[in-house]
Amino acid sequence: MREGIHPDYYQATVTCNCGNTFTVGSTKENIHVEICSKCHPFYTGQQKAAQARGRIDKFNRKYGINQ
Ligand SMILES: [Zn+2]
Repeated sequence: MREGIHPDYYQATVTCNCGNTFTVGSTKENIHVEICSKCHPFYTGQQKAAQARGRIDKFNRKYGINQ
């Protein structure tokens, strides 16, 4: 590699809003993210589906479909 033209390469510590930290290779030393694989609904399970189900239940209750 030519000297002086490449940015420094770090093992960056990524800090997530949920408190999870992990390291990745990066040209920045510290990275802060709002969502990671530990707290994203896709990886944590059915948070979104549960929400959707709640909305359907609410609709059914409103129109008396469950009774
Ligand atoms: Zn997270």
